[in-house]
Amino acid sequence: MITSKFEFRSPKDVEEAVRLYREFQGEAVYLSGGTDLVPRMKLGLEKPKAVIDLKRIVPLTTVEDQGDWIRIGPLARIFDLKQNDLVGDYFPALEASLEATSCESLQMRGTIGGNLLQNSRCLFYNQSEFWRRSKGFCLKMGGESCNAVPGAKTCFANYCSDNAPALCTLSAEIELSGPDEVRRLNLEELYTNKADKPFDLQPGEILTAIFVPKKKSIGGYEKLRVRGAIDYPLLSAAFSFVDGTGKLAIGAVGPKPYVVEMKQPSHDAIGEAVEVVLKQVRPVGNTVLDPDYRKRMIPVLAGRLINKVMEGAK
Ligand SMILES: Cc1cc2nc3c(=O)[nH]c(=O)nc-3n(C[C@H](O)[C@H](O)[C@H](O)COP(=O)(O)OP(=O)(O)OC[C@H]3O[C@@H](n4cnc5c(N)ncnc54)[C@H](O)[C@@H]3O)c2cc1C
Repeated sequence: MITSKFEFRSPKDVEEAVRLYREFQGEAVYLSGGTDLVPRMKLGLEKPKAVIDLKRIVPLTTVEDQGDWIRIGPLARIFDLKQNDLVGDYFPALEASLEATSCESLQMRGTIGGNLLQNSRCLFYNQSEFWRRSKGFCLKMGGESCNAVPGAKTCFANYCSDNAPALCTLSAEIELSGPDEVRRLNLEELYTNKADKPFDLQPGEILTAIFVPKKKSIGGYEKLRVRGAIDYPLLSAAFSFVDGTGKLAIGAVGPKPYVVEMKQPSHDAIGEAVEVVLKQVRPVGNTVLDPDYRKRMIPVLAGRLINKVMEGAK
């Protein structure tokens, strides 16, 4: 499969990148590692006039200890980040989710920023143009209804970032730099809760930093997938316990991570947290696993993970 024709630009700073985005009147995409973007371009899901490569913008690649915060450059590669001492010392949930992300060869290319901004996925969407056309375009392709749930007017694609749930449990914040302003928000505020347009991003905005509070935590990450060696999550659970409070995040069963805070991770509290998540999610038949099974695995994965983390702390 080959991509449609595009121009390639490689700016040296964020201002130039944003200016280029404007120059192409919004018909441009940013490129980090390309492991999500390039396959989508090959499938004809993206046909940009220009690709703006962010890899030469050095400040976007570094990890810094800023005292109260660890600032992670969005172009830090997954493979480098999982070996970073600050991540290992402070954020075990993130360390585990980085380790569980795809496979090592992709981790060496893929970045944490690209991981957070990867597009939502569906068996009926991540297909060749020929395949999609024969079925009729779905909501995520500008069509009238969902192909996974015939007749539905809601998109059910899944957001499959392994690292977003872990970062949510660590109360991470992000910085977005756009043509008009630089804004900082909680990572959870990035999500629209709409699978066909999962991110609340203004045109041309670049993710320029991820900030994680520098607090010691205990935590972990579990994911359900078909092949252990390389696979997107079909369900995931992240848990961090920081300053006497636990946060559970369930991923890959909807357009965002579902985050619940719990004071003490007792048996009852875990059950209540899972109930909160179960009320919000509706897995459908758009992955290789049965949707009921994915739903029934939510309490299993969450309970197993939290018990393991809390046992380990004793
Ligand atoms: C076979 C395979 C298996 C995979 N398995 C997993 C998995 O198990 N878990 C998982 O989480 N992911 C998985 N992925 C997806 C992907 O490899 C990772 O998510 C990776 O971290 C994406 O990072 P990237 O730098 O390559 O992103 P890119 O492809 O460069 O970018 C992804 C998206 O984000 C946008 N973007 C990138 N950086 C910025 C920025 N700084 N500001 C604004 N927009 C930006 C791009 O325009 C694009 O739309 C898999 C991919 C493949 C091909």
